[in-house]
Amino acid sequence: MKKLNSYQKNIYDLIIRRFLSVFGSPMLRESNKVFITLNGNIFILKGNRTIDPGWTIFSEKYSSFDERALPDFKIGQELQILELNILSKETKPPLRYNQGTILKIMERKHLGTRATRANILQTLYDRHYIEGESVHVTQLGEVVINVLEEFCSIISSEKLTQNFEDEMNRVYKGEKKRIAVITEAQHLLTAVLKDFKKNEKQIGQKLLKGLAESQQHQQELGICPKCGNELKLVKSKRTNLFFIGCDGYPKCTKSYPLPHNARIENTGRVCEKCSTPIVRIIRKGRRTYEMCLDLECEIKKDWGKI
Ligand SMILES: [Zn+2]
Ligand SMILES: [Zn+2]
Repeated sequence: MKKLNSYQKNIYDLIIRRFLSVFGSPMLRESNKVFITLNGNIFILKGNRTIDPGWTIFSEKYSSFDERALPDFKIGQELQILELNILSKETKPPLRYNQGTILKIMERKHLGTRATRANILQTLYDRHYIEGESVHVTQLGEVVINVLEEFCSIISSEKLTQNFEDEMNRVYKGEKKRIAVITEAQHLLTAVLKDFKKNEKQIGQKLLKGLAESQQHQQELGICPKCGNELKLVKSKRTNLFFIGCDGYPKCTKSYPLPHNARIENTGRVCEKCSTPIVRIIRKGRRTYEMCLDLECEIKKDWGKI
Protein backbone atom coordinates (compact mmCIF):
# COMPACT_ATOMS: atom_id res chain seq x y z
CA MET A 1 0.00 0.00 0.00
CA LYS A 2 1.26 3.46 -0.88
CA LYS A 3 1.55 6.13 1.76
CA LEU A 4 -0.15 9.49 1.34
CA ASN A 5 2.10 12.47 0.76
CA SER A 6 1.60 15.65 2.74
CA TYR A 7 -0.82 17.24 0.22
CA GLN A 8 -2.95 14.12 0.07
CA LYS A 9 -2.94 13.84 3.85
CA ASN A 10 -4.17 17.40 4.23
CA ILE A 11 -6.96 16.91 1.71
CA TYR A 12 -7.99 13.62 3.29
CA ASP A 13 -8.04 15.28 6.70
CA LEU A 14 -10.16 18.14 5.37
CA ILE A 15 -12.66 15.75 3.78
CA ILE A 16 -13.07 13.73 6.98
CA ARG A 17 -13.54 16.81 9.10
CA ARG A 18 -16.00 18.35 6.66
CA PHE A 19 -17.97 15.11 6.59
CA LEU A 20 -18.11 14.78 10.36
CA SER A 21 -19.09 18.40 10.92
CA VAL A 22 -22.32 17.78 9.00
CA PHE A 23 -23.48 15.74 12.01
CA GLY A 24 -22.51 18.37 14.57
CA SER A 25 -24.91 20.65 16.38
CA PRO A 26 -25.14 24.36 15.49
CA MET A 27 -22.47 26.61 16.89
CA LEU A 28 -23.62 29.19 19.40
CA ARG A 29 -21.83 32.53 19.69
CA GLU A 30 -22.51 35.58 21.79
CA SER A 31 -21.51 39.10 20.96
CA ASN A 32 -21.74 42.09 23.28
CA LYS A 33 -21.37 45.78 22.84
CA VAL A 34 -20.76 48.03 25.81
CA PHE A 35 -21.12 51.81 25.51
CA ILE A 36 -18.98 53.74 27.92
CA THR A 37 -19.30 57.51 28.29
CA LEU A 38 -16.36 59.59 29.31
CA ASN A 39 -16.70 63.38 29.45
CA GLY A 40 -19.57 63.20 27.01
CA ASN A 41 -17.68 61.03 24.51
CA ILE A 42 -18.91 57.56 23.81
CA PHE A 43 -16.44 54.69 23.67
CA ILE A 44 -17.53 51.31 22.42
CA LEU A 45 -16.24 48.02 23.72
CA LYS A 46 -16.98 44.92 21.71
CA GLY A 47 -16.78 41.33 22.85
CA ASN A 48 -17.33 37.96 21.23
CA ARG A 49 -17.32 34.52 22.68
CA THR A 50 -18.30 31.01 21.78
CA ILE A 51 -20.88 29.50 24.07
CA ASP A 52 -21.14 26.15 22.33
CA PRO A 53 -18.60 25.28 19.62
CA GLY A 54 -21.06 22.80 18.03
CA TRP A 55 -19.89 21.42 14.69
CA THR A 56 -16.73 23.50 14.71
CA ILE A 57 -15.02 21.05 17.12
CA PHE A 58 -14.45 18.91 14.03
CA SER A 59 -12.77 21.65 12.07
CA GLU A 60 -10.89 23.53 14.78
CA LYS A 61 -7.75 23.29 12.72
CA TYR A 62 -9.34 25.16 9.82
CA SER A 63 -11.47 27.74 11.56
CA SER A 64 -10.63 30.39 14.06
CA PHE A 65 -12.98 32.74 15.79
CA ASP A 66 -12.32 35.95 17.57
CA GLU A 67 -12.65 35.22 21.29
CA ARG A 68 -12.91 38.24 23.53
CA ALA A 69 -15.02 37.62 26.58
CA LEU A 70 -16.15 40.75 28.42
CA PRO A 71 -16.74 40.88 32.15
CA ASP A 72 -20.32 41.40 33.32
CA PHE A 73 -21.41 45.02 33.12
CA LYS A 74 -24.49 46.63 34.60
CA ILE A 75 -26.31 49.59 33.09
CA GLY A 76 -25.15 52.76 34.82
CA GLN A 77 -22.18 51.08 36.41
CA GLU A 78 -19.25 53.40 37.08
CA LEU A 79 -15.86 52.35 35.86
CA GLN A 80 -12.48 53.33 37.12
CA ILE A 81 -9.89 54.72 34.75
CA LEU A 82 -6.63 52.83 35.19
CA GLU A 83 -4.66 54.26 32.35
CA LEU A 84 -5.09 56.82 29.58
CA ASN A 85 -3.29 56.55 26.26
CA ILE A 86 -3.48 58.77 23.25
CA LEU A 87 -2.93 56.73 20.12
CA SER A 88 -2.46 58.05 16.66
CA LYS A 89 -3.85 55.67 14.08
CA GLU A 90 -4.85 55.87 10.48
CA THR A 91 -7.90 54.23 9.03
CA LYS A 92 -7.22 51.29 6.75
CA PRO A 93 -8.63 51.19 3.24
CA PRO A 94 -11.55 48.80 2.91
CA LEU A 95 -10.66 45.25 1.89
CA ARG A 96 -10.95 44.31 -1.76
CA TYR A 97 -13.94 42.23 -2.73
CA ASN A 98 -13.50 38.51 -3.17
CA GLN A 99 -15.90 36.26 -5.04
CA GLY A 100 -17.90 35.52 -1.88
CA THR A 101 -18.42 39.15 -0.94
CA ILE A 102 -19.38 40.09 -4.50
CA LEU A 103 -22.04 37.39 -4.55
CA LYS A 104 -23.40 38.68 -1.25
CA ILE A 105 -23.56 42.24 -2.54
CA MET A 106 -25.31 41.09 -5.72
CA GLU A 107 -27.84 39.28 -3.56
CA ARG A 108 -28.41 42.33 -1.40
CA LYS A 109 -28.86 44.55 -4.44
CA HIS A 110 -31.21 42.11 -6.17
CA LEU A 111 -28.82 41.56 -9.07
CA GLY A 112 -29.20 38.17 -10.72
CA THR A 113 -30.74 35.13 -9.13
CA ARG A 114 -29.30 32.37 -7.00
CA ALA A 115 -28.89 30.32 -10.17
CA THR A 116 -27.25 33.01 -12.30
CA ARG A 117 -25.02 35.03 -9.97
CA ALA A 118 -22.03 32.67 -10.00
CA ASN A 119 -22.27 32.50 -13.79
CA ILE A 120 -22.33 36.27 -14.15
CA LEU A 121 -19.16 36.48 -12.08
CA GLN A 122 -17.48 33.70 -14.07
CA THR A 123 -18.28 35.54 -17.30
CA LEU A 124 -16.48 38.60 -15.97
CA TYR A 125 -13.42 36.42 -15.30
CA ASP A 126 -13.68 34.61 -18.66
CA ARG A 127 -13.82 37.87 -20.57
CA HIS A 128 -10.94 39.10 -18.52
CA TYR A 129 -12.75 42.11 -17.07
CA ILE A 130 -11.67 41.14 -13.56
CA GLU A 131 -8.89 38.95 -12.17
CA GLY A 132 -7.47 37.49 -8.97
CA GLU A 133 -8.85 35.98 -5.77
CA SER A 134 -9.09 39.39 -4.20
CA VAL A 135 -10.78 40.93 -7.16
CA HIS A 136 -9.00 43.51 -9.32
CA VAL A 137 -10.57 45.15 -12.33
CA THR A 138 -8.33 44.68 -15.38
CA GLN A 139 -7.37 47.49 -17.68
CA LEU A 140 -9.75 45.99 -20.23
CA GLY A 141 -12.58 45.88 -17.69
CA GLU A 142 -11.99 49.50 -16.86
CA VAL A 143 -12.06 50.54 -20.51
CA VAL A 144 -15.30 48.67 -21.17
CA ILE A 145 -17.10 50.10 -18.18
CA ASN A 146 -15.88 53.63 -18.92
CA VAL A 147 -17.04 53.41 -22.51
CA LEU A 148 -20.41 52.00 -21.50
CA GLU A 149 -20.90 54.69 -18.90
CA GLU A 150 -20.01 57.39 -21.35
CA PHE A 151 -22.23 56.24 -24.21
CA CYS A 152 -25.05 54.17 -22.77
CA SER A 153 -24.95 54.37 -19.00
CA ILE A 154 -28.33 52.70 -18.67
CA ILE A 155 -26.82 49.33 -19.67
CA SER A 156 -24.29 49.42 -16.87
CA SER A 157 -26.71 50.79 -14.30
CA GLU A 158 -27.73 48.30 -11.67
CA LYS A 159 -31.21 49.81 -11.63
CA LEU A 160 -31.99 48.35 -15.05
CA THR A 161 -31.06 44.82 -13.97
CA GLN A 162 -32.84 45.21 -10.65
CA ASN A 163 -35.94 46.43 -12.40
CA PHE A 164 -36.04 43.42 -14.73
CA GLU A 165 -35.36 40.97 -11.90
CA ASP A 166 -38.21 42.48 -9.89
CA GLU A 167 -40.54 42.42 -12.90
CA MET A 168 -39.74 38.78 -13.55
CA ASN A 169 -40.43 38.03 -9.92
CA ARG A 170 -43.82 39.68 -10.33
CA VAL A 171 -44.50 37.46 -13.33
CA TYR A 172 -43.50 34.45 -11.25
CA LYS A 173 -45.91 35.43 -8.51
CA GLY A 174 -48.70 36.01 -11.01
CA GLU A 175 -48.90 39.73 -10.28
CA LYS A 176 -48.00 40.77 -13.78
CA LYS A 177 -48.46 39.37 -17.27
CA ARG A 178 -45.39 38.00 -19.01
CA ILE A 179 -46.14 39.80 -22.24
CA ALA A 180 -46.35 43.18 -20.48
CA VAL A 181 -42.83 42.77 -19.09
CA ILE A 182 -41.44 41.63 -22.42
CA THR A 183 -43.00 44.58 -24.28
CA GLU A 184 -41.60 46.97 -21.70
CA ALA A 185 -38.14 45.44 -22.08
CA GLN A 186 -38.38 45.62 -25.85
CA HIS A 187 -39.22 49.31 -25.80
CA LEU A 188 -36.42 50.10 -23.44
CA LEU A 189 -33.78 48.04 -25.20
CA THR A 190 -34.74 49.35 -28.64
CA ALA A 191 -34.14 52.88 -27.40
CA VAL A 192 -30.83 51.90 -25.81
CA LEU A 193 -29.62 50.07 -28.90
CA LYS A 194 -30.58 52.98 -31.14
CA ASP A 195 -28.39 55.20 -29.02
CA PHE A 196 -25.63 52.63 -29.12
CA LYS A 197 -25.81 52.36 -32.89
CA LYS A 198 -25.50 56.12 -33.23
CA ASN A 199 -22.20 56.12 -31.34
CA GLU A 200 -20.98 52.78 -32.64
CA LYS A 201 -17.88 54.10 -34.34
CA GLN A 202 -16.73 56.12 -31.37
CA ILE A 203 -17.38 53.23 -28.99
CA GLY A 204 -15.40 50.89 -31.23
CA GLN A 205 -12.45 53.24 -31.42
CA LYS A 206 -12.29 53.73 -27.68
CA LEU A 207 -12.55 49.98 -27.02
CA LEU A 208 -9.85 49.23 -29.57
CA LYS A 209 -7.49 51.74 -28.03
CA GLY A 210 -8.11 50.29 -24.58
CA LEU A 211 -7.66 46.75 -25.82
CA ALA A 212 -4.32 47.58 -27.43
CA GLU A 213 -3.08 49.16 -24.21
CA SER A 214 -4.22 46.20 -22.15
CA GLN A 215 -2.53 43.74 -24.53
CA GLN A 216 0.68 45.69 -24.40
CA HIS A 217 0.56 45.55 -20.62
CA GLN A 218 -0.18 41.81 -20.65
CA GLN A 219 2.75 41.05 -22.90
CA GLU A 220 5.19 42.45 -20.40
CA LEU A 221 5.78 39.68 -17.94
CA GLY A 222 8.51 41.03 -15.73
CA ILE A 223 12.27 41.37 -15.68
CA CYS A 224 14.75 38.77 -16.99
CA PRO A 225 16.76 37.57 -13.97
CA LYS A 226 19.83 37.11 -16.18
CA CYS A 227 20.15 40.46 -17.97
CA GLY A 228 17.45 42.79 -16.64
CA ASN A 229 15.59 43.26 -19.91
CA GLU A 230 11.83 42.82 -20.17
CA LEU A 231 10.47 39.27 -20.54
CA LYS A 232 7.81 38.91 -23.20
CA LEU A 233 5.42 36.43 -24.68
CA VAL A 234 6.94 35.20 -27.95
CA LYS A 235 5.58 32.91 -30.63
CA SER A 236 8.10 30.39 -31.93
CA LYS A 237 8.38 30.52 -35.73
CA ARG A 238 9.48 26.90 -35.79
CA THR A 239 6.83 25.26 -33.60
CA ASN A 240 4.17 27.99 -33.66
CA LEU A 241 3.90 27.68 -29.88
CA PHE A 242 4.16 30.48 -27.36
CA PHE A 243 6.99 30.73 -24.89
CA ILE A 244 8.49 33.44 -22.73
CA GLY A 245 11.59 35.04 -24.16
CA CYS A 246 13.89 37.89 -23.21
CA ASP A 247 13.76 41.25 -24.95
CA GLY A 248 17.56 41.20 -24.91
CA TYR A 249 17.62 38.43 -27.54
CA PRO A 250 19.96 37.51 -29.29
CA LYS A 251 22.42 38.75 -26.64
CA CYS A 252 20.45 37.00 -23.91
CA THR A 253 18.88 33.66 -24.77
CA LYS A 254 16.99 33.15 -21.54
CA SER A 255 13.61 31.56 -22.25
CA TYR A 256 10.91 29.65 -20.40
CA PRO A 257 8.36 27.18 -21.72
CA LEU A 258 4.66 27.66 -21.05
CA PRO A 259 1.69 25.34 -20.52
CA HIS A 260 -0.38 24.85 -23.69
CA ASN A 261 -3.69 26.59 -24.29
CA ALA A 262 -3.18 28.93 -21.40
CA ARG A 263 -3.41 32.66 -21.04
CA ILE A 264 -0.55 34.19 -19.09
CA GLU A 265 -0.81 37.23 -16.89
CA ASN A 266 1.76 39.28 -15.09
CA THR A 267 1.36 39.41 -11.32
CA GLY A 268 4.11 41.97 -10.79
CA ARG A 269 5.75 39.73 -8.18
CA VAL A 270 8.92 37.64 -8.34
CA CYS A 271 9.67 34.25 -6.77
CA GLU A 272 11.57 34.51 -3.51
CA LYS A 273 13.55 31.35 -4.30
CA CYS A 274 14.55 31.71 -7.96
CA SER A 275 13.86 35.44 -8.63
CA THR A 276 11.96 34.75 -11.85
CA PRO A 277 8.67 36.60 -12.33
CA ILE A 278 5.53 34.96 -10.99
CA VAL A 279 2.82 34.65 -13.63
CA ARG A 280 -0.82 33.68 -13.47
CA ILE A 281 -1.81 30.71 -15.65
CA ILE A 282 -5.40 30.82 -16.83
CA ARG A 283 -6.91 27.87 -18.66
CA LYS A 284 -10.53 27.49 -19.61
CA GLY A 285 -12.39 25.14 -17.31
CA ARG A 286 -9.40 24.76 -14.98
CA ARG A 287 -8.43 26.40 -11.78
CA THR A 288 -6.27 29.48 -12.22
CA TYR A 289 -2.91 29.24 -10.51
CA GLU A 290 0.27 31.22 -10.11
CA MET A 291 3.83 30.02 -10.54
CA CYS A 292 7.33 31.29 -11.11
CA LEU A 293 8.81 30.75 -14.56
CA ASP A 294 11.75 28.53 -13.62
CA LEU A 295 10.76 24.87 -14.04
CA GLU A 296 13.69 23.79 -11.88
CA CYS A 297 12.75 26.08 -8.98
CA GLU A 298 12.87 24.29 -5.64
CA ILE A 299 9.34 25.45 -4.83
CA LYS A 300 8.15 23.05 -7.50
CA LYS A 301 10.05 19.98 -6.31
CA ASP A 302 6.86 18.40 -4.97
CA TRP A 303 4.77 19.28 -8.04
CA GLY A 304 3.45 16.45 -10.13
CA LYS A 305 3.79 14.07 -7.20
CA ILE A 306 0.32 14.89 -5.94
ZN1 LIG B 1 17.66 38.31 -20.55
ZN1 LIG C 1 10.79 29.95 -8.20
